[in-house]
Amino acid sequence: MFSKYPMIEVEEARNIVKSQCENKKIERIELIQGLNRVLAEDIVAKKPFPEFRASTMDGYAVKVQDCPGNLQIDGSIRAGEASNELETGHAKYITTGAPLPKGADAVIPIEEVKIENDTLTVPQAKLGQWIREIGSDIEEGQIVISKNNVLGAAEIALLASLNVREISAIAKIKIGILSTGNELKTLGEETKYGEIIDSNSIMINMLCQEAGCEVKNYGIVKDDLDLVKNTLITMSEECEIIITSGGVSMGDRDFVKPILEQEGQVFFGRLNMKPGKPTTFAKLNNALAFALPGNPVSCFVCFYLLVRYAIDLISSKPEFPIITVNLGSQEIKLDSRPEYHRVIVAWDGSEFKAVTTGSQASSRLLSASKANALLMLPKSSPSLSSISGKVQAILVKPFSNIQPEMKAARISTQHHECPHFAPRNDSVKIGILTISDRVSEGVATDTSGPHLIEKSKELFNGCCTFYQIVPDEIERIRDALLEWCNEGFELIFTTGGTGFSERDVTPEATKMVIEREAPGISTQLIVEGLAKTPLASLSRGVAGIKGRSLIINLPGSLKAVKEGFEILSQVIPHAISILRT
Ligand code: AMP
Ligand code: MG
Repeated sequence: MFSKYPMIEVEEARNIVKSQCENKKIERIELIQGLNRVLAEDIVAKKPFPEFRASTMDGYAVKVQDCPGNLQIDGSIRAGEASNELETGHAKYITTGAPLPKGADAVIPIEEVKIENDTLTVPQAKLGQWIREIGSDIEEGQIVISKNNVLGAAEIALLASLNVREISAIAKIKIGILSTGNELKTLGEETKYGEIIDSNSIMINMLCQEAGCEVKNYGIVKDDLDLVKNTLITMSEECEIIITSGGVSMGDRDFVKPILEQEGQVFFGRLNMKPGKPTTFAKLNNALAFALPGNPVSCFVCFYLLVRYAIDLISSKPEFPIITVNLGSQEIKLDSRPEYHRVIVAWDGSEFKAVTTGSQASSRLLSASKANALLMLPKSSPSLSSISGKVQAILVKPFSNIQPEMKAARISTQHHECPHFAPRNDSVKIGILTISDRVSEGVATDTSGPHLIEKSKELFNGCCTFYQIVPDEIERIRDALLEWCNEGFELIFTTGGTGFSERDVTPEATKMVIEREAPGISTQLIVEGLAKTPLASLSRGVAGIKGRSLIINLPGSLKAVKEGFEILSQVIPHAISILRT
């Protein structure tokens, strides 16, 4: 069965959405309610700021003509106090922010004066030094914040400093959310076989709040034509934007599209994108209706691309920026549709680096977790079936703080432990390389890598750990090890790929990298390991040195990794200190 809706491109869909977005109403609000709101008026300073000449230092108010010299101390002026005129040959103690006394034309900081027996000795002074002149921060009549600016803490404080108590802001958009599906249960309810918790309405609610909207949740409706229809009509009468999830595909209980068609006007019902193909946009009464697919990730992506786009247009907020990011050697397979692939983007000092969030199945919310950008991947073609290197991306959240060294890691920064500031010189740079086909495909969760990170942190106070996952492919392992060695990693643990199966090639890859073997380490692992488990002898792991980097292969199982780390915890710090000299 074919859909009757033509498949349109996302750009065309966004243009259609744009054509239906009208500017939002304006309302008066208290300044204190203004966080993240869009200002709908220019705010002009009615007075200069500061209104009086103020000292910018704790020190003494003087006359320049008396400096250098010995002056008589004549009282004090603290912030908030007024004072009498300064006489020639006198100085007044003054604190930061206090109004300058009449007659004074400079301030000498406290650090520059000498006091002996009530006599103040001051150095030479320049006219106006350490004085904040009237209107030097803000001139009278100046536009302090112009219309359409989004208010943050600094802007609100700025307006507060001018005693602006009320502002005109763009009114919040009222959004109604509805989930459809017989299988859905409300958060907290018990689920029976085949049932799932309605996570979409919660996610959409959060996304709408993040976008500064007022949200009403209409709950869950069963896939029943009349129920869905009546709820949609009520929502359209009460809200400016309606967002539904589920029930827009080709299933026999997918009623949302036909209802919108019958009761309103559908602008599009199929998009050439992945995920989110059946996304539908319509008008119902006066409300804009976005019918998003049920799969959570489709909801997430389509919300940002279409709903958030509309919200920002209506409320005059800026669009998300499109940036160029570097995938490095990560190879991403292209789909037959243009795809919005979730990534974590970080700035490395010279360019944006992007790290995929792993398997991009549209049901896998983990691929949206921590993502701050959507790669805009082209559709595949006979000449281009996969992509790496530089790609365009929409940045939907501030970029993350992962360290630049984490060049082309395949997985999130979950266990990345470098501080925000430059690592200490003495901190050990440690790489943890998990080698597993299953983990890298996202079908298994890595427990050994995170354990090694945790234990490394315990062993080396203030160490810097880097984490990467690669499949059991000899070149990938070799390249990852080489990259880390070249970047001056002092210790690299690998976990996985040391066994007897055909895909286990970690020792072979390691041998391609190391210059000198350290057989004692692998021997110790086996000998002491045997005391706990007879299977220890089946690990083919090696250890060796390249330059100043020590690489140690550990088996993949968490038990073996735990035991292995324990066994080596005495020798490793010593080995590193020798390699450092
Ligand atoms: P649908 O678009 O209704 O065909 O649903 C597609 C998939 O998304 C199905 O696996 C649904 O169970 C799932 N799904 C639908 N609605 C929700 C929801 N509100 N929260 C989480 N998953 C959902
Ligand atoms: Mg459904």
